[in-house]
Amino acid sequence: MNQPAFRSPADDCTAGEDLIPIDAAFAAIVSLASATGDIETLPVERALGRVLAAPVVTRVPLPRFDHAAVDGFGLSKADLGRDPPIALEVSANVAAGGGARLALRPGAALRLFTGAPVPPDVAGVVLEERCRISGSSVAVTIPVTDGANIRRRGEDVPEGATIVDAGTALDARHAAILTAAGVSAVSVRRRIRVAVLSNGNELVDAGEAPRDGQIHDANRPMLLALLSRPFVEPVDAGCHRDDPDLLARVFAAAAREADVVVSSGGVAGSEADHVARAVRQAGGAMRRFRLALKPGKPILAGAIGDTPVLGLPGNPVAAMVNFLLFGRSLVGRIGGLPAERPEGQAALAGELFAHAPGRAEFMPVRATGRAPDGRVRLAKLGRGGSARLRPLVLADGLAELPAGAGDLPADSELRFHPFAAAFAP
Ligand code: AMP
Ligand code: MG
Repeated sequence: MNQPAFRSPADDCTAGEDLIPIDAAFAAIVSLASATGDIETLPVERALGRVLAAPVVTRVPLPRFDHAAVDGFGLSKADLGRDPPIALEVSANVAAGGGARLALRPGAALRLFTGAPVPPDVAGVVLEERCRISGSSVAVTIPVTDGANIRRRGEDVPEGATIVDAGTALDARHAAILTAAGVSAVSVRRRIRVAVLSNGNELVDAGEAPRDGQIHDANRPMLLALLSRPFVEPVDAGCHRDDPDLLARVFAAAAREADVVVSSGGVAGSEADHVARAVRQAGGAMRRFRLALKPGKPILAGAIGDTPVLGLPGNPVAAMVNFLLFGRSLVGRIGGLPAERPEGQAALAGELFAHAPGRAEFMPVRATGRAPDGRVRLAKLGRGGSARLRPLVLADGLAELPAGAGDLPADSELRFHPFAAAFAP
């Protein structure tokens, strides 16, 4: 793993009012990590969702042999040029899985079914619906061109080509092409361990009865859910009181056990916020980013030893937005995926989105339809806010209003981050 970019406890940018653009913060945060080097070999069916560690090259061409693309009749080269109707004797039937060595003389046809190997003597295949069949003879009613309805050996993928690149999270498509090429086992990166912890004196775990002034820890289940990805092993590192000594021990243990540590709460820099201090006490370094971002201005990122640590804000919406913006890519990079800042897709404001320039803003939105050019129209969901969960639950995704933008009237372009993509494995 890379050396952490921030080593010194003094390397803290709380001073001054300058806010860091999210793209700059993204680059700094993902550079804290590199992919784990540990690799394992798994059967393809157990490797789905895992990240390929080395490119896979096919030793066979796809298709493996010339074969019929339709049910029909194979003609010899000599009969291709003839004017229809072309009268032919059917000399044999070949089904998928049949032999490829049959000879074909001019004036005869082979009945071929889809997938059947096409012998070298066959120059073109005509669809059976274009033929009149009577007994053992057939009349072809259309001219047949050279190579018609024949899928050629290697036309999809030539032998020796890369069929899946390193850094790919394997899905159903890869299962198909790998298996088609006869590859039954692949090298993938081992699952990475991501420790998730919460801190706050007010927090109690699900199932416990909150006393006066207490609330349930909602972020830990949310973050563990966001980390439910096939290449990740989420590690529940618990919910802890705002006690710097305790937190230092918790962070140290989590950093030893996991490949990356994600915490929420206690990052704002008040005397009740202990995460930065605890990480330093555990021997790590932590940098505070004051982001040009709403929700969630402060965020911490650093490392204990070579284990990156990400400190998210405590408000649940802020924790989610910041995790999706920074944490997901940080985790992905450790897992071997390319780290790209989530760009979302171009969409249209369905109504006025009031916005003051200065900070990029992410807000829950509903998709209400599509413009003729296909862009999704977005509608707000009442008043946002970094602590309101209901709009999040009613939303289809998050709208991104750029830091530099003022009010965005209806029909302005903005970015849309659908949850379907943000929550994808
Ligand atoms: P903090 O970032 O610790 O100052 O917390 C900001 C707000 O988020 C406070 O209202 C906290 O009670 C709330 N909060 C912090 N952590 C959590 C959590 N794990 N689940 C739900 N709310 C939280
Ligand atoms: Mg707190």
